[in-house]
Amino acid sequence: MTRKFDIIIVGAGFAGMYMLYKARELGLSALVLETAGGVGGTWFWNRYPGARCDVESMQYSYSFCEELQQEWQWSERYASQPEILKYANHVADKFYLRRDIRFNSRASSAIFHDGERVWQLSTDDGEHYYAKWCVMATGCLSAAQRPNIPGLGTFKGEIYHTGNWPQQPVDLSGRKIGVIGTGSSGIQVVPELAKLAKHLYVFQRTPNFSIPARNQPIDSAYEAEWKQSYAERRTAARNMPAGILSDIGTNSALAVSPEDRLAEYERRWAAGGTGFTAAYSDLLKNEDANGTAAEFVRKKIREVVTDPAVANLLAPVDHPIGSKRICADTDYFATFNRQNVTLVDLRANPLQEVSEHGLTAGSQFYELDIFVLATGFDAITGALSKIDIVGRQALTLKEKWQDGPNTYLGLMTSGFPNLFIVTGPGSPSVLTNVIVAIEDNVNWIAGCLAYLMTRDAQTIEAMASAEQGWIEHVGQAAEGTLYTKAKSWYLGVNVLGKPAVFMPYVGGVPAYQKICEEVEADSYRGFDIHANRDSVHSLQVVA
Ligand SMILES: Cc1cc2nc3c(=O)[nH]c(=O)nc-3n(C[C@H](O)[C@H](O)[C@H](O)COP(=O)(O)OP(=O)(O)OC[C@H]3O[C@@H](n4cnc5c(N)ncnc54)[C@H](O)[C@@H]3O)c2cc1C
Repeated sequence: MTRKFDIIIVGAGFAGMYMLYKARELGLSALVLETAGGVGGTWFWNRYPGARCDVESMQYSYSFCEELQQEWQWSERYASQPEILKYANHVADKFYLRRDIRFNSRASSAIFHDGERVWQLSTDDGEHYYAKWCVMATGCLSAAQRPNIPGLGTFKGEIYHTGNWPQQPVDLSGRKIGVIGTGSSGIQVVPELAKLAKHLYVFQRTPNFSIPARNQPIDSAYEAEWKQSYAERRTAARNMPAGILSDIGTNSALAVSPEDRLAEYERRWAAGGTGFTAAYSDLLKNEDANGTAAEFVRKKIREVVTDPAVANLLAPVDHPIGSKRICADTDYFATFNRQNVTLVDLRANPLQEVSEHGLTAGSQFYELDIFVLATGFDAITGALSKIDIVGRQALTLKEKWQDGPNTYLGLMTSGFPNLFIVTGPGSPSVLTNVIVAIEDNVNWIAGCLAYLMTRDAQTIEAMASAEQGWIEHVGQAAEGTLYTKAKSWYLGVNVLGKPAVFMPYVGGVPAYQKICEEVEADSYRGFDIHANRDSVHSLQVVA
């Protein structure tokens, strides 16, 4: 069995699959290591009822191949998990990707051997593989976060995490189900569980804003319109901050009359989807402007939910709308009008413990057959921190990032030569249509590898000074927004002991992409490139 490759890619979600495609285009021998038994990443693991994308399907797909985007047909405005997984499998078949992917192979360590300038990747089952280049395509939302609830291990019923849902059907009907977590996954799963459960208890600590998705079948005229000008639309989307073609308001919310503002919010509420927060230019910058949108949504919640006390609990007041990932739902709030659904406020009734047959919150015991943990992810850095990554001079990534992740452009981190990250911390990643972010990062990495190969370069590494400058820029960009006003997973505060650092780059896709292109055009400014132990600046003479 071959164990030496030009490049090893970790992860076979949309990032790893596209990286493999590009590596082959460059003529590199490539291996992909993937924990799961199939491709698709997020869409392989998140099989919970109600899982679907909240970026429209026509956009939440690869753009790199015109034939692919023309031939694939989405059935709904927001595709469901099974359909997205089918799409990922279609891509894998179309480009014969599977032959270079080793499934059921979790990379447990990645060690850089300084002398040989080689990465050694080892898997849980004791295999070792070697490559000059290594790409971490491990995903921003792939390390499921289990809550630290006293007694959880003693529960005699079934426990499922939404981010690691079984591949076999789960029998939910007629059962007493408890859900913990009311973020995006909780908001998607709750209405579906309520339809099946004998009784559903939703244990809520923090309510979240959600906008009706208004999901519907895609009509053929809409699809045809998109497909007639797909390439132009993709380009236009890349010029939008989130990489999503959308209707972005240019006015301040405070510069229009209350009547006009209300009409605009009503229009967007009726249209549905997360584009709601794009109504005005300052909704994520100015608290007063934000307050107008937040209050509109709170009022809607009070209109939908018949019990005023429950409505109050569901209406978020502790963070600006959009400062946490905004959700798109199908009947989430209306679900609380059902007789078989109870909202339990964990703020007023703190979670005491889980025991064999249920959960105690406050002084009340709730008998349960099934626990659904919709408790999200150790986001952005979680999957990387689960791999023992060791760079030059035995520096570990865990040590290096103990006070928060440092990268240059989110793509590389100093001390770890030839190790690239797709949608890493410090890149726009989760604030965008992530497939756009993935394609842009992978294209940049592929361009960089081509550059290095033509110059016979042995290593590339982010310079510490460039990294420092980038991290400061990422921090400053976030400071100018309301994103830092919420205790969100963008900051890592959902994970005990994780340093609270705002991880994604809020500057938007076009600004980020421009910087990446400038760095490339400037012979990879801020990166140290070595050939046969010479530094980059001698390499430029070769060019
Ligand atoms: C429920 C849900 C809904 C989402 N909806 C949207 C949406 O509407 N729009 C949007 O833009 N984004 C959405 N996202 C974000 C989504 O994660 C990205 O859009 C995209 O799928 C990420 O692709 P990826 O390849 O980067 O990562 P992933 O899809 O997470 O794939 C990473 C892969 O790496 C593997 N892996 C990790 N560590 C190792 C290891 N040590 N060894 C081997 N393999 C490893 C994992 O098993 C996984 O298969 C959603 C995420 C979730 C969880």
